[in-house]
Amino acid sequence: MASRASHSGSVVGTGLGTVLGGRVSMALMPEAIVDLLPENATQAALGPTQVILHSAVDAPGPTNLARWFGRESVKVESHFWVAFQRKPGQNIITQMMDTNVKADANYRANATAISIETEDDGDPDNTPWTPAQIQAIAYILVWAHTTHAIPLELCTSPTSPGIGWHSMWGAPSDWTPVRGKTCPGWARINQVVSVVNTARQLAGMGPIKPREQPMPTPTPTPRTWKGVQQVLNSHGANPQLVTDGDPGPKTATAVIGVITYQTDVINNLGRQLEDANRTARDAQQAAAQWQRWGNEQLKQLELVQQALKGQEPDEDSLAAKDLRAALHRLMG
Ligand SMILES: [Zn+2]
Repeated sequence: MASRASHSGSVVGTGLGTVLGGRVSMALMPEAIVDLLPENATQAALGPTQVILHSAVDAPGPTNLARWFGRESVKVESHFWVAFQRKPGQNIITQMMDTNVKADANYRANATAISIETEDDGDPDNTPWTPAQIQAIAYILVWAHTTHAIPLELCTSPTSPGIGWHSMWGAPSDWTPVRGKTCPGWARINQVVSVVNTARQLAGMGPIKPREQPMPTPTPTPRTWKGVQQVLNSHGANPQLVTDGDPGPKTATAVIGVITYQTDVINNLGRQLEDANRTARDAQQAAAQWQRWGNEQLKQLELVQQALKGQEPDEDSLAAKDLRAALHRLMG
């Protein structure tokens, strides 16, 4: 079970902590609820240079992550927990590990990273961090920046100092051995830059430069024959295939059917494109003809206007009648 510890007078402002009476002093965030895990007393020392953001995929409803991490059977832990704010004014930041002590959440980056777990009620891909969570994470980042000199910038490699998210380098990668991991979920990965910029604003810094905003690395989904059979079925394979992941002659026939169909569609689109191009060419030629004809008409009109200019034609004069007749012909 996690034990609640007092943190009065134990906060230090140095990266590696200082040895005081044989003990390394603790780095605890004054604003956080401190609920230290038993591992805090047993894990190795840490000199953090990175902060890595996670999402917990916890059950719906309020979650006490410290209690879960504190179980004997759970061998992982993170330094911070940022919950949903379920009551106005509720403190949603819990610190479970001293940031001068390693926490096991980031695979090879455990030797360099502070980890922040965040509540999502089970669906991080579609549950963005709330404004309160963004603010809370930003406060932690600013504290990590002033306490451990961690730059408020995105990491540019798995070992470079800065801020990152768990699946930043793909999965598996140096930060996770788990294939296909998307932690902290697509909705939240899209918010990382604005979280870092919120922290920078709190620290009186301008937003990160565009070149420091790498695109998230999508993790390719492994292709299986079962998946192929499902895709073929959704493309109207007739008869529908048994999705047993074991390709036989029916799967092969369905593949050929889909390819033939797609080829037909592409050829048909090609023909339509040719037709459209021909129509466009014809329309352009017609437009050019109309333009030429319009220009000639304008030229003639100018000539008539010049002829009329400066004349005070006698209403009954022959010249005035001729000009009027010419005008009528042209406008007619
Ligand atoms: Zn994670």
